[in-house]
Amino acid sequence: MTAREAGVVTLRAPTESKLDVSAVEELNCNELVELVTDYFEQALPATEVRRFEHHLETCPGCTIYVEQMRQTIELTGRLSPEELAPEAETALLAAFRDWKKRD
Ligand SMILES: [Zn+2]
Repeated sequence: MTAREAGVVTLRAPTESKLDVSAVEELNCNELVELVTDYFEQALPATEVRRFEHHLETCPGCTIYVEQMRQTIELTGRLSPEELAPEAETALLAAFRDWKKRD
């Protein structure tokens, strides 16, 4: 297996070989959300990265989610594992709420 640096930005299909991705149990959206922190920390094993990226290829919603996560990380400048995973969405929504809220 190639020690490819977990592509944080480049979400490419594994082209190196005929990896039988379909034989692997697929991630569902909830699992992806749970793994996203590890994914950005490059803490996922290669197999998991493969499943993760495979899900992204098939799920536009999660692609957007991961993209938002990436932007959040860029904005905050770092990852806070405890906070990031499920609450990133909340944080994003809160950011939108902030400029609406006047009182
Ligand atoms: Zn999904």
